[in-house]
Amino acid sequence: MAKLDKKERNGDIQLKPLIYDLRLEKLQAWLEANGEKAFRAGQIFDWLYVKRVDSFEDMSNLSKALRDKLQASFHLAGLKEITRQESADGTIKILFSLHDGHAIETVVMRHNYGNSICVTTQVGCRIGCTFCASTLGGLKRNLTSGEIVSQVLMAQKVLDQEEQRASHIVVMGIGEPFENFEALLDFLYVVNHDKGLNIGQRHITVSTSGIVPKIYEWADDMNQFNLAISLHAPNTEIRSRLMPVNRRFPLSDLMDACRYYVNKTGRRITFEYGLFGGVNDQVEHAQELATLISGINCHINLIPVNYVPERDYVRTPRDDIFAFQRTLQKRGINATIRREHGSDIAAACGQLRAQHAKNQKESAEVPKVEQAEELTR
Ligand code: SAH
Repeated sequence: MAKLDKKERNGDIQLKPLIYDLRLEKLQAWLEANGEKAFRAGQIFDWLYVKRVDSFEDMSNLSKALRDKLQASFHLAGLKEITRQESADGTIKILFSLHDGHAIETVVMRHNYGNSICVTTQVGCRIGCTFCASTLGGLKRNLTSGEIVSQVLMAQKVLDQEEQRASHIVVMGIGEPFENFEALLDFLYVVNHDKGLNIGQRHITVSTSGIVPKIYEWADDMNQFNLAISLHAPNTEIRSRLMPVNRRFPLSDLMDACRYYVNKTGRRITFEYGLFGGVNDQVEHAQELATLISGINCHINLIPVNYVPERDYVRTPRDDIFAFQRTLQKRGINATIRREHGSDIAAACGQLRAQHAKNQKESAEVPKVEQAEELTR
């Protein structure tokens, strides 16, 4: 058989960008370069993000010629749903495959203030936190902004069936968003734009493991979006044990960056603090933490560890979690315990994807039907 060249091997899929990769101005420039009027970009955004059509053909106020040009130049379907799990508490977790066969996950969470979508920014992760399932296979690649936008759009389409709206976004899925910065910014632009998904900046939270230079950039340029820091430790020794990124960006530098953020923006920062049994969850750790963050306008989100089979961290007993919280509160720190969403469906970061990868490896012996059952259990 003749050897396929690269183009044939990939089909045309990789050669055409996703239309969701484009900011409005980029789409305007593309239209003008293709002999069309720039204002059509607004109409196209309306079809994509408000009417949420699934084909260029449906964009009925565009000429046939323009629809054909769009069809020839862009992809409209970036993600294919592999499986969907719904938890008793309404949390929905969707596993998607990308054009190159990688799998990512997106979660829809229900709150009393609205529906929030948790998005993935990278296929895998290279940060290497010792408790996290997302990092197990390392980093495969960055997502494009359009692939991140598509997750919110697909989640919104699920919510459309209940006439509900995605009102909030948390960038807390698989990956380190500050290591895929350009795509993150394009994504935020599109989901926030009033001609895009129109989700308010203060309803969008980006979480980082602590990529210090980007925190400064964030403080300077993106200060209406919320910022969360995965802190997880009251001192640099424990943090290095849990998060190797602490050797790249030591805790003292991270705290300086957080102080800069709060002073520059006048806004509150969120610290995520996972409670890992016997590692960082004692009252003395809470005291040390209170001292570490004193004077910073912040909120602490205490996260009871999500069990990951490949990791051997254990849960903090309930009473100890409350004792930790009370210690912080007595020191005047606003601390809440994260409500678990979808714990019955493996909704913690990277769990479904890890499970899927494991199943794929075993699929030589496992018949397809059983595999599907495993995923929806
Ligand atoms: N890379 C970014 C975005 C991931 S957000 C970051 O590190 O912030 C996901 C949050 O869940 C992070 O705070 C992460 O540290 C935390 N997390 C990951 N695995 C966990 C686990 N097994 N138990 C509790 N929290 C976990």
